[in-house]
Amino acid sequence: MSKTSTTDQEALDYHEFPQPGKISVETTKPVLTQKDLSLAYTPGVAVPCLEIEKNPENAYRYTSKKNLVAVISNGTAVLGLGNIGALASKPVMEGKGVLFKNFSGLDCFDIEVDTESVDRFCSVVMAIAPTFGGINLEDIKAPECFEIERRLVEELNIPVMHDDQHGTAVISAAGIINACKVTHRKIEDLKIVVVGAGAAAISCARLYRKLGAREIYMLDSKGVIHNGRSDLNAYKREFCAGGYMTHSEVFECADVVVGLSKPGTFTIEDIMTMANEPIVFTLANPTPEVFPNDVIEARPDAVVATGRSDFDNQVNNVLGFPFIFRGAMDVRARKINDEMKLAAAHALADLARTEVPKDICELYGKEIKFGKDYLIPKPFDKRLIVEISSAVAQAAIDSGASDMKGFDIKAYRKELAK
Ligand code: NAP
Ligand code: MG
Repeated sequence: MSKTSTTDQEALDYHEFPQPGKISVETTKPVLTQKDLSLAYTPGVAVPCLEIEKNPENAYRYTSKKNLVAVISNGTAVLGLGNIGALASKPVMEGKGVLFKNFSGLDCFDIEVDTESVDRFCSVVMAIAPTFGGINLEDIKAPECFEIERRLVEELNIPVMHDDQHGTAVISAAGIINACKVTHRKIEDLKIVVVGAGAAAISCARLYRKLGAREIYMLDSKGVIHNGRSDLNAYKREFCAGGYMTHSEVFECADVVVGLSKPGTFTIEDIMTMANEPIVFTLANPTPEVFPNDVIEARPDAVVATGRSDFDNQVNNVLGFPFIFRGAMDVRARKINDEMKLAAAHALADLARTEVPKDICELYGKEIKFGKDYLIPKPFDKRLIVEISSAVAQAAIDSGASDMKGFDIKAYRKELAK
């Protein structure tokens, strides 16, 4: 039995019954008569084919492309399970489809690609891209994930995002924005320690810089990343501290630590040396670097977040990807750029500072209001789709990632609220 409230058998039964898996395809047009048949398939189907051949934009009008996301993995970094391969990753990718559909109404095909080669993976994705309006890359190991995403974003003109990188970055950034509000700090003044230098850590640190952070120290399994090290890849090199520093030195008087590594990589002793009201995001999943209750016991002044649903301030990626893709795809953005990610982070942070709807308080069985125990909105907050998707769509237009003419944000927000 796992440590969560579900048993392993429950999880297996859930996936097996009443039919195997979590996804099936539904048709949107009836096929009841001979006429329906000739419209759905030949000869009628040839007409939209030719329209699309004349003008590829028509694919958005006559096919499911507009609302269809691919969740694509090669199974090399699945949850905390590691490289379990493409086939074994399928339940996770189907699960992501369930979240897309339920949280933002986007349809989803999960695609598991059996290769560890960057070239082969990219050519498979490029070849199947015409089917989709957006591509969510998932659970691909670092550092390959950076090159894969870079190439696909460059080559394709639909939104492509590796959620383990950017979803985490957006949501943790929202948490940091609000932790700063609660503790009366400015992001520019923070001394931030990022523990981990993998897929999530690199992207988070990049986004914190875009938010204005100036002093970031990063640690990997060999210690602090500094310019005296000769073993660093290009991504880690972006975060070199000047000279050699020890683990304890970077923690001393740090305002923030964000753990994106594994259990035990930093300790309560490290946190004891941090500044007043330390901001501690201990995000390794399912077992955090340090447990939140231990942090709060040792440092009652700390502001704490984790990746888990059984503690306050859960950095849960479902707060991001369904709504980021919804907004990007609705305005036909060619990519998901930094402006759109920052807009999503600010929209999340802003939402957490408004009054929490009654149904959410009832769902959690307590009064919830903005403060150190509630920095980030809850996943079932129905306002998320309106706030995040509209902010992302507007940022796509303002930043030139979308060419949509006459975008009416008020009308779009009404549409999203339906
Ligand atoms: P990853 O690419 O494998 O990165 C893990 C990083 O941890 C590597 O850079 C590794 O260093 C570093 N590390 C290992 N031992 C360390 C040590 N003793 N001290 C410092 N760093 C150490 O994995 P990822 O996808 O970025 O995910 C990292 C963790 O964050 C996982 O536990 C994941 O579940 C969690 N996560 C949580 C959320 C969330 O809460 N929403 C989202 C994403 C990820 P080397 O580079 O030297 O190997
Ligand atoms: Mg993932």
